[in-house]
Amino acid sequence: MAIATIDPATGKLIKSFPALTDREVDDRIDAAARAARSWRAAPIAERVAVVRRAGELLEQRKTEYGRLMTLEMGKTYKSAVEEAATCALGCRYYADNAERFLADQPIAAEKERSFVAFEPMGVVLAVMPWNFPFWQVIRFAAPALAAGNVGLLKHASNVPQCALALEQLFAEAGAPGGAFQTLLIGSQAVERVLGDDRVAAATLTGSEGAGSSVASVAGKHIKKTVLELGGSDPYIVMPSADIEAAARTAVTARTINNGQSCIAAKRFIVADSIADRFTRAFVDAMRALVVGDPMDERTNVGPLATKQIRDDLHSQVERSMACGATLLAGGHPRDGAGFYYEPTVLGDVTPAMPAFQEETFGPLAAIVRAKDADDAIALANQSRFGLGSAVWTRDSAEIDRFVRALDAGSVFVNGMVASDPRFPFGGVKKSGYGRELSAFGIHEFLNIKTVRIFGAAGSGQTSTE
Ligand code: NAP
Repeated sequence: MAIATIDPATGKLIKSFPALTDREVDDRIDAAARAARSWRAAPIAERVAVVRRAGELLEQRKTEYGRLMTLEMGKTYKSAVEEAATCALGCRYYADNAERFLADQPIAAEKERSFVAFEPMGVVLAVMPWNFPFWQVIRFAAPALAAGNVGLLKHASNVPQCALALEQLFAEAGAPGGAFQTLLIGSQAVERVLGDDRVAAATLTGSEGAGSSVASVAGKHIKKTVLELGGSDPYIVMPSADIEAAARTAVTARTINNGQSCIAAKRFIVADSIADRFTRAFVDAMRALVVGDPMDERTNVGPLATKQIRDDLHSQVERSMACGATLLAGGHPRDGAGFYYEPTVLGDVTPAMPAFQEETFGPLAAIVRAKDADDAIALANQSRFGLGSAVWTRDSAEIDRFVRALDAGSVFVNGMVASDPRFPFGGVKKSGYGRELSAFGIHEFLNIKTVRIFGAAGSGQTSTE
């Protein structure tokens, strides 16, 4: 895939970038390895100050960064500005909390001074997707830098200008040279970087195929990975729910980021007795969405990021209809320039259909009927994915059951799945492993070191630097 900015709203090539040569990549790895040695020794106050400053710059420049995101991957400008603001919050969260998360943890043991220390691993490669081109990177970079790691970013090939802006952001925030660098390379060059002895670990957010490939290489070299992969989140609506609120939120949950979110609700599993009522409200609201220019503030759904993504989505619609799904709204790309797809609802979806089995990355909702709570749980779990899940019910016994029975990295009750720096984020099954955000996220790329000191006096307190 060429490294280039192609405006999804017009399909026009804006700018292309040559990939780095092997020699240039080696120089950057070398700079990262040198930075890792000094950065881990820097006082935590210094590291945290860089993360805090990055957050301030993100807030100040949110409209500029918003325009860049919209240009490269087509999300609405309004949501892009919100994404930059979320990044600012994420930086502030780790600036405020990193020292506490990294503090030694004393362990009570007889006649010894014992504690657990958290030490950085070194150079971490971050392979990132285009769909949240700033937020995905920040949620890796803020905790990594605060913890004393350094980052090499291999961003998706269609968002090179976002990648370069992020490198510059951290430089301007005061990160020393080499502490956060962008590698403009294609996916085939990842294996060589990850195999390099100077690179300690990798995190990947992306598709199942990319995750499997990076994890194989890392496994061969015995390196830690965190994988944040795809999802086919269930959104369950039970008879006791506030049906109108569930339908309204369902529209946002499905079409957020033009439908291209790993945690978007994708399979709407609705109890038989209220399925007609929910479907009517949901389909009406999906039809009312404004599809168009992502820079226009009235637009709800902009273009998909690439032509390939739009073609894949249309194929999923057609293949599901060939298996018996009913078309309730949309169902086709838009004529004219740009990679637009009409908000689409399929009814009578069953587990045998692509819209149920595959991740659908665009504004396509699959409605599946469930007989009762047991059936809803079985359908929800009948997926290779297990990222987020949502359930709407006002029955407290039912809430307890769903919370425990759903195979997913998160369960949201009477709301939609969203990421928040205070809470761990990640999945199970083919949605990946490991966690980002919160204290769990910062601990992923640390050496959790056991220290037991016999025959010496002391409190067990040490510095976090
Ligand atoms: P993708 O095609 O897998 O690409 C993600 C990143 O991996 C890109 O930088 C890509 O580089 C690279 N890549 C692709 N194949 C690779 C390989 N074989 N070896 C090494 N690197 C490889 O995914 P995407 O289309 O950008 O993003 C959408 C996917 O990400 C969806 O499945 C979505 O659900 C998932 N996602 C998950 C989360 C989460 O937190 N769980 C969040 C957001 C998105 P190139 O661009 O150069 O190919």
